Amino acid sequence: MTVTYESWDTRLQRGEELARKAETTKEILTFYVQLLRAQREVDEFLRTRRDWLPSGSLVDDLPVIRQCLPSVAYMVEANGPALLAEEAQNLLSAPDDTVDEMLLTYWRTPTDTQFFAKAVLQPYAHWLAESGGRPIDRTFESNERHCPFCGGRPQVSFLQIREATSESGNRDLICATCTNNWSFRRVACAHCGEEGPTKLGYFQTPEYDHIRIEACDTCNHYIKGVDLTRLGFAVPLVDEVAAPALDVWAREHGYTKIELNLVGL
Ligand SMILES: [Zn+2]
Ligand SMILES: [Zn+2]
Repeated sequence: MTVTYESWDTRLQRGEELARKAETTKEILTFYVQLLRAQREVDEFLRTRRDWLPSGSLVDDLPVIRQCLPSVAYMVEANGPALLAEEAQNLLSAPDDTVDEMLLTYWRTPTDTQFFAKAVLQPYAHWLAESGGRPIDRTFESNERHCPFCGGRPQVSFLQIREATSESGNRDLICATCTNNWSFRRVACAHCGEEGPTKLGYFQTPEYDHIRIEACDTCNHYIKGVDLTRLGFAVPLVDEVAAPALDVWAREHGYTKIELNLVGL
């Protein structure tokens, strides 16, 4: 199977399109578009460096990676919500040691509350995969519910038709850490692996025809699923951010998201 790597350009264009059409979600999407733009800058910075490829050991790659932080931090300082903007300001004046520590902590133990490290390391890990490397200075859980490349948790799930003859789509999960995808069982909880149909619920609103909540009553976690068989030009990582009403609904019904996205939903 050939792996295709979705470009930051593709994501940015989809974000811009959704932001143009957005009404209630305009603010969230405008910020996310600016973030995608900053991440594309990081990606370009990394892939255009002469005689350099990511080694997969973040400790060794830090001299390059820490230079990526300002792209994201300046954007957030100017456009982000107050608390995040303040954090950006602090990071911009922080010594290298502090920035390195933040990046390494996230790399070793990713969490969805570490906004800056997640935003900077997504393009790093994405390029590491695309350039043929692999993470070598971190240990991670290896089971089907974690990314086989980097051990990250799933950010979003999506359905697509892989073979022209198959009627039902195949399901993939997208990694929150490296943003690449891996295939997963169609009917199973992406958090605990539950397969019992009575324990798994799917919820949709007419507002988003191609996005649904996939919830599990065994572990009370949920993930959003994007159905590319209904909307082929959707970009799961981006369309997921553009449907915050579903997150509100899921939270109100007692479900916890497996991994918060970069806008904190
Ligand atoms: Zn990954
Ligand atoms: Zn579950």
